[in-house]
Amino acid sequence: MTSELIPQTFDKLFIGGRWVSPVDGGVRGSIDPATGEAWAEVAYGGIADIDLAVAAAREAFEGPWRRMAGWERAQIMRRFADLYAAHVEQLATIESRDNGRAIRESRLDVGMHAQYYHWYASLADKMGGRTIPMDDSVHAFTTRLPVGVVGTITPWNVPLMAAAWKLGPALAAGCTVVLKAAEQTPASSLALGRLIEAAGFPAGVVNIVPGDGPVAGAHLVAHPGVDKIAFTGEGETAKTIIRNGAETLKRFSFELGGKAPHIIFADADVDQALNAATGSVWTLCGQSCALGSRVLVERPIYDHVVEEFRKRAARVRVGMPLDPATHMGPQAHLQQLEKTLSYIDIGKAEGAELVTGGARVERDGLSGGYFVEPTAFAAVDPNMRIAQEEIFGPVAALIPFDGEDEAVAIANGTRYGLTAGLWTGDVGRAHRVANRIEAGMVWVNTYRYIRWSTPYGGLKASGWGRENGIESLDSYLETRTTVISTTGKFADPYA
Ligand code: ADP
Repeated sequence: MTSELIPQTFDKLFIGGRWVSPVDGGVRGSIDPATGEAWAEVAYGGIADIDLAVAAAREAFEGPWRRMAGWERAQIMRRFADLYAAHVEQLATIESRDNGRAIRESRLDVGMHAQYYHWYASLADKMGGRTIPMDDSVHAFTTRLPVGVVGTITPWNVPLMAAAWKLGPALAAGCTVVLKAAEQTPASSLALGRLIEAAGFPAGVVNIVPGDGPVAGAHLVAHPGVDKIAFTGEGETAKTIIRNGAETLKRFSFELGGKAPHIIFADADVDQALNAATGSVWTLCGQSCALGSRVLVERPIYDHVVEEFRKRAARVRVGMPLDPATHMGPQAHLQQLEKTLSYIDIGKAEGAELVTGGARVERDGLSGGYFVEPTAFAAVDPNMRIAQEEIFGPVAALIPFDGEDEAVAIANGTRYGLTAGLWTGDVGRAHRVANRIEAGMVWVNTYRYIRWSTPYGGLKASGWGRENGIESLDSYLETRTTVISTTGKFADPYA
């Protein structure tokens, strides 16, 4: 399927409503992780390009965008959302090409994004404040103001989803945006610019500049013209960002890593739990912070679950991302492949038992790509590195436990606190355990149910603030309190 709106060229940046060549960035090949070869020439921004993008965003913020009524902003956002819905196939294909995600998954993921934009459009004219009850001498009330120019820094695993989670609330709040997409998978974010342009956003409201993190990203973070950074990525990068943003007292929201516990009690519907648990480690080739990479299994059903992981791994079709039959594509880039393989070695060295997988896939014309087998380790001790550190590959750590207290202790025994899942047939246990888990999102008898309206974000080292839901607007808004005297009298202090 072709579209006039989304040409297959990505060699220009989108700044101030125009497609421009990088000033001091450049154009270079973006690697198709299924082949290891460049598949598209893509524009990358440098320092001067970020400066231009921030200036354009500032001008749009001070000019048309913040003055526009919320319902007018909503109209443009809805046009954009409709265009997005009409271009799911193209966007999903570009994303799969760039990050290697199986097209069947990309279609489902990208197919939901338009609704994020619609939902945030519907909030654009509803950000009222409140009146503060005082005495008769004053009328006190609050209003909500957009925070200003937002730098959104997105990761390589789900560029379009991360953009939707940030652009939706930012635009609804009346902010303008510089979107810095990850250097490994920039193409789909540039394609997004074509739809921004066609939807009729005023020039500069959204600017799209992929670029290298330590150069373009760091410059965006330190830039005095940027009011807030909305970031998804690694905790170590977040620490660097905090340091770089300190001088300008940036506002931050962070969506960082996870090592989610996926707990299966013996009283659960184990077959359903296995559907969720296997899917939730191997989906996206393991490259999502929400995935249940630690599968905690109550001891009476542990051997059965281990055996099912082995059997089900054999059914996973690893293959080319654009083949509709493929379940699991490659890792999105070479460094990630190397990281996953190194953790598999670590697991073996730690004494965990390799149940299935554990190697790079070299067959059937896949040897040039970054494919790795769906992998599971059994006999995993909760303190092993493969149970503590985020691998971001398709590697399950199957950990046995006895009873609720031990399940909760293991679940909470990492520095992360993003998501968690639990399976049980006992409604009381569902409430008890969910209530004790240190995670920003807990699923019971389901997994990875994530929508525009459900707040998502981390406790502990998994992040600051929430994305999605009404809550996510808070980090794109400031509160102003206005106090008006009803008398206009002010006593002379020196009388
Ligand atoms: P990963 O290691 O998984 O690639 P990162 O946290 O490094 O995750 O990357 C997430 C995003 O952060 C990417 O867009 C990347 O370019 C950006 N990034 C990396 N380093 C910096 C930095 N020093 N300042 C700002 N952004 C950065």
